[in-house]
Formats: sequence, structure tokens, C-alpha cells
Amino acid sequence: MTTAQQTTGAGHRRAPQHAPPSVRPPWYVTGGAVLLLVHAGAAAVVLLWWSNTESVVGLAGWLTNAGRLTGLLAGYACAVLLALMARIPFLDRTVGSDRLARWHAMGGRYTVSLAVAHTVLIIWGSSAASGTGLVEQTTTLVFEYEDMLWAAIGFLLLLAVGIVSARAARRRMSYETWHFLHFLTYLAVFLAFFHQLSNGTDFAGSTTAVTAWYVLYIGVAAALLWNRFLTPVRRALRHRLRVSEVHPEAPGVVSLYITGRDLEKLGARPGQFFRWRFLARGHWWTANPYSLSAPAGSGFLRITVKAAGGHSRGVASLSPGTRVWAEGPYGAFTPERRTRTKVLLVAGGVGITPLRSLFETLPGQVTLLYFARSFDDLALREELDDIAAARGAGVHYAVDEPGGASVALTPGSLGALVPDLADHDVYLCGPPGMTAAARTAVRGAGVPRHRIHHETFAF
Ligand SMILES: Cc1cc2nc3c(=O)[nH]c(=O)nc-3n(C[C@H](O)[C@H](O)[C@H](O)COP(=O)(O)OP(=O)(O)OC[C@H]3O[C@@H](n4cnc5c(N)ncnc54)[C@H](O)[C@@H]3O)c2cc1C
Repeated sequence: MTTAQQTTGAGHRRAPQHAPPSVRPPWYVTGGAVLLLVHAGAAAVVLLWWSNTESVVGLAGWLTNAGRLTGLLAGYACAVLLALMARIPFLDRTVGSDRLARWHAMGGRYTVSLAVAHTVLIIWGSSAASGTGLVEQTTTLVFEYEDMLWAAIGFLLLLAVGIVSARAARRRMSYETWHFLHFLTYLAVFLAFFHQLSNGTDFAGSTTAVTAWYVLYIGVAAALLWNRFLTPVRRALRHRLRVSEVHPEAPGVVSLYITGRDLEKLGARPGQFFRWRFLARGHWWTANPYSLSAPAGSGFLRITVKAAGGHSRGVASLSPGTRVWAEGPYGAFTPERRTRTKVLLVAGGVGITPLRSLFETLPGQVTLLYFARSFDDLALREELDDIAAARGAGVHYAVDEPGGASVALTPGSLGALVPDLADHDVYLCGPPGMTAAARTAVRGAGVPRHRIHHETFAF
């Protein structure tokens, strides 16, 4: 018999929570407002250039003015890029970390292009104006103008980060190497900051423009310092998290139970994730994202980790008592995204983790469809069955093995499995190919885009 309580693999008991829905506007409402703000800022930057430009005369004039404008826009874009990665809780919960990371990656390409254009145009323009050669003009600009040497170093660092972030180069290096090299962006932006004020015609004599630039950069720096450094340290000291148990779930998959003080004050919602740093040999220098695989709030946090590479493999051999730093909670893959009383959850492999928490806590009529390669790979199956029985929810295991009741990801098969599918919200988490196919299928079955919610395990 299943009861309203459900036992975790490690013997922790908790009561299901049925939090009342507090529906948030869809991500594209907040996301649209953020993009509008970013574009309004860019328009203000163009206006600043416009108001300081009486006329543009000759080739040299056109080149230097284009150089000024691209430089201003590059300076502005640098601040926006860093703000997107400042882990501002409001943005993270409404727009979502994965979408912010995608915007950051796309914005990074524009920023590097603008910085390159600015450099080339300014050198070419001043060379045309003074009648000197490009090499001589470059040397003059770098060594004779205030703060320009630092700006040149910053530019080269930014270029290097841009090159290592290109898809082809990134594929060849480990995530950690790429991540640490990426930190050079902070140094690059810092080094390039001062030449904007000391040499930028648009800032000369305009206290308002200079003040606005300082407010922008100091605001972003404060958000980064607060969210990425001070808050994690404060939380680590406050919650004193430790691994309490490591529990095998399936081949290559373990659950980690983490205990600590005042866990409810972390404010973690089902479906969210933290970046976990384990203070153990081989782990302390990297923080990896893992979703909560059980709702927080019963004296422990739980994550379920599949061995994918060095870090995730090592999680299985962590000892109870290991200190943990958790940065978060992050993510917009939460019950607040729901807009209908009927919900379909579609999980693939270890993508079950955030959906397991949502399966227990989402109010309304919930159906879970869980894809796995083999029966052995169905992690957390016992507790999923318990939850299904306790709340009278439907659960379907689609396994790629004989007798595995596999389901084709087509509108017809999904519609046959979930009647009235068009009137559902759909939460998806799994490998990219599977989630793309599932998204197409549910769209084909009549679920509108804004009711499909998606968590991706790769930034
Ligand atoms: C929001 C989110 C939630 C996740 N939840 C879970 C979960 O509940 N259970 C689970 O098993 N896995 C989860 N993952 C995936 C997990 O983070 C990666 O499998 C793990 O970090 C791989 O690290 P590795 O060193 O073992 O492997 P590697 O071989 O070093 O990395 C494999 C891939 O994982 C990604 N990755 C590695 N390190 C990081 C990092 N620090 N930050 C972001 N991405 C990284 C990269 O795309 C990399 O190419 C989640 C990922 C994200 C982004």
C-alpha cells in the first residue's frame, strides 16, 4: 500500500508538499522587458554619440566616428555581458539561467566584434587623419595616450577569451579549463575601462555621461561581488552543509543527502538547482550544477548525480561529513511556470532529477513520462511509484528494451498516452535530442510554446 508519506532510499521521510500555485508571467514577459531595457541602453549610447557629433567630414571623419560609436557600444556591451552572468536572483528565477547563459554567449560574439571594429576603425581613422602609417599610428596610440597600454592588453585578453569560447575551440578543452580562462574577461573589462573615460570624446566635459558610466560599471561589479562571492560565503557559514549519505540509485547514478542548518531559509523551489562545491580532494576547485531530486524542507537536500565525467564520477566516492558549499538556488524550472491544472512531465535519463521534485509537489493532475535506455537505468523508480500511488498520478516508463513499453515521440503517441494533451503544461528535461523531439511532438499535439517549460543540463 502507498501512503501519503514517501520513504527516500536513505530512510529520510517527508510529507508531500502541495504548495499553492503562484503563477508568474511567462519568461518572455520578463525576458522581453530585460531585452527592451538592454536595447534602450544601447539607444541611449547612440544618442550620446549623436549629441556629441556636429558633423562627419571625409574618410578620416567617418572612420573615427564609426570607431567612437563601436567603442561606446562595446563598452556598454561589456557591462551588459557581465550583468547577465551576475546571477541576479530575480533574473535567474524569471528568465532562467540557461537562457541568460545563451544571451551571454550570443552577446559575447557581438561584443568581441564591436571591440575589434572599434580598434581597427580608430587606428585606420587616426592614421588617415594624421597621414602616418598604420603600424606607426598603432604604436603612437598605445604608448602615448593615457591608459591605452592597459586597454590594448584588455583588448587582447578579450579577443583570446572570444577565441577559446568559439564552439570549435571549446570542444577541444575541458569545461574547467574553458571556465577558468573565461574569468580573464573580468580582467579584460577592468583594464579597458579607464581608457574609455580618459580618451573618449563623448565623456570629455560631460559629467552626466561619466557618472552614468560609473553607475553602470559599479552597479554590475557590486551585483557580481554580492551574488557570486559574498552570498555563497555567507550561506556557507550560515547553513554549514555537509554530505550525510551517499546512496546508489542505478548503474553510475548516486544520490547525495546533504544536511545543514536552517535549510528552509535557502528558499529552494522544486525543479531548481545549485552549484555544488565539495570541499574534498579533487573537488574543491570546481562547482558543478545539479538539480534537487527531492523537495527541500525536511532537514536535508538531495541531489542525484549520473557519472558523466571526472567531477560527477567522483561524487560517488565522497565521504559522509564532507563540507559542501552550495551556490543557489537557481533556475526558473519551477511550479510557478505552470499555467494549467493539468501537467505532463517528460524526463529522459538523469533528467528525471528536477522532475522528481516537481512530480511530488505540483498541484493538479500530473502525468510523468520517463524515458530510459534500460530498466536498470530507471533511477528513483520506487519513490516515483510511491508518489504516483499517493497522489493518484499517472506514471509511464518508456524503456528501450524488449517489453519496455517505449513511446514514439510523435503527436499521435503522446496524444494517445495523455488525453487532452493540448490543455496541459509540459515540463521537459533530458538529453538535447530527446527534448528537441519531445518539444516538436507536443507542439504538434497542440501545446503552445509558452506552456512548454524546459531545463537544459548543458550551458
Ligand atoms: C542546470 C543544470 C542542472 C543539472 N542537474 C543535474 C542533475 O541533477 N544530475 C546530473 O547527473 N547532472 C546534472 N547536470 C549535468 C551536470 O552538471 C554535468 O553532467 C556535470 O557537471 C559534468 O561534469 P563532469 O566533470 O563530471 O564532466 P565533464 O566531462 O567535465 O563535463 C561534461 C559536460 O558537462 C557540462 N559541465 C561540466 N562542468 C560544468 C559546470 N561546472 N557547469 C555547467 N556545466 C558543466 C559541460 O557541458 C561539459 O561539456 C545539470 C546541469 C545543469 C546545467
